[in-house]
Amino acid sequence: MAAGPVEIPPAVLVNAALPQPHHRTKGFRLAFKDVVDGLQRLFFTKNTILTMAASGTGGMEASVINMFSPGDEVIVASCGAFGQRWADISKAYGLTIHQIDAEWGKAVDVNAVAEKIKSVPNLAGVMTTFNETSTGVENDIKSIGELVKATNAVFIVDGISGVGAMPFKTDEWNVDVLVVGSQKGLMLPPGLAFVALSEKAKKRVETSKLPKFYFSFAKGLKLMVGEELPDTPFTPAVSLILQCREAIKLIEKEGIENVWKRGARMAEATRLGVKALGLKLLASANFSNVVTAVDCQDGAVDPSKVVKGLLGRFGISIIGGQGKLKGKIFRLGHVGYVDELDVLATIAALELVLKESGAQVKLGAGVSAVQEFLLKQGN
Ligand SMILES: *Cc1c(COP(=O)(O)O)cnc(C)c1O
Repeated sequence: MAAGPVEIPPAVLVNAALPQPHHRTKGFRLAFKDVVDGLQRLFFTKNTILTMAASGTGGMEASVINMFSPGDEVIVASCGAFGQRWADISKAYGLTIHQIDAEWGKAVDVNAVAEKIKSVPNLAGVMTTFNETSTGVENDIKSIGELVKATNAVFIVDGISGVGAMPFKTDEWNVDVLVVGSQKGLMLPPGLAFVALSEKAKKRVETSKLPKFYFSFAKGLKLMVGEELPDTPFTPAVSLILQCREAIKLIEKEGIENVWKRGARMAEATRLGVKALGLKLLASANFSNVVTAVDCQDGAVDPSKVVKGLLGRFGISIIGGQGKLKGKIFRLGHVGYVDELDVLATIAALELVLKESGAQVKLGAGVSAVQEFLLKQGN
C-alpha cells in the first residue's frame, strides 16, 4: 500500500521469467510496438513516446537536458518534494529558475503561474507535477497547459505517479513533455521511464544545447518516427517491456476509465477510514487518488511507529514523509493492483497498530466508515 513501487499482478510478473528474445528481433520489436501503441492510448496522446531504462527521475533529467540550453529561463511550479526535484535538476544544469512554491499540502496556484509567465519574457519552459506523491495532492494540469500553450515555452509534466491512475489527457491538456514511470499506476517493477513528446517539444530537441549522450532524445526519435517497427538506440530493458505489454492488456481489459474510477473509490474509502479514526488529512482539497497523506504534526501519533507496525506485524508496506515532511506524516497508497479488500485490511490493521502504540482510537471506527461507504456505492 505504498504509492510506488506498487504490488505487481502475477500475470505481469511471470513475463520476467519467460525466455527473453533478443531486442533486435522482429518478435521483440512487435512486442515493443504493442507497448508504445498501448501507452499512447493510456496517456491519451498521439505524441511520440520514448522508452528509457531508468527510474522516473531519469526521465525527468532527460527531459531537461533535451529541452533546454545553458542559461534558459524556466518556471518551476512546485507543491512538494517532487516539484522541488524539477528545480534541483534545472539547477544542476545551470538553468535560470523562476520558482513558484505552494504550501506543502496545497495545489499549485494557477493564477500565480499566469502572473509568473507574464513576468518572464524569454520563457523557455514550465515544469510541474501532476500528482504530488509527497503530499497527496493533484495539480490542475489542464489550466496550466492552456497558459503555456500561448507562449514559446514547452510544458513539461511529471506524471510519474498519476498517469494511468487518475484521469489525464496529454494532448487535450497541451502537455509537450510528459514523463511517466513504470512502478506506480502502470503496475510494473521500477526501471522504465516513458517520455511523450509533442511537435513543439520535438522542435526543441533540435536546438537544445545542454550536453547529452545516452539520454539523447534525437537518437531516440530517429528510431521511433517513420519506422515501421519502433526501436531504441541502446539495449532496452527487455523483460520490463514484455511485462509492460501485459500490464497494458490488464488495464485495457478493465478499461482505463474504470481503473480511474476504482482509484477514486479506493482513495475516498481510505480518506473516510482515516478521518473516522480521528486522524487529519494533510490536504484539504485537490485530493490525490493515488496516495493519502495523514498529518501527524499535532504529535498525537508517531508516523514512524505506524509505518514500522504495519510492515512488521502485518506485512503492509506504506511510507512516511519525505523532504520537509519527514517524520511528520505517513502516506497510504491506493494505486494500481488495489481493491476494496486491500483498503479494508489496511484500515483495520492501522486501527490495531494505532491502538497498540497508545493512540486514542475506537477500534472498528475506520473499518465501519469504509464499509458504510462501500455499501452505499454497491458492487
Ligand atoms: C516516484 C516519483 C518520482 C521519482 O521516481 P523515481 O522512479 O524514484 O526516480 C518522481 N515524481 C513523482 C511524482 C513520483 O511519484
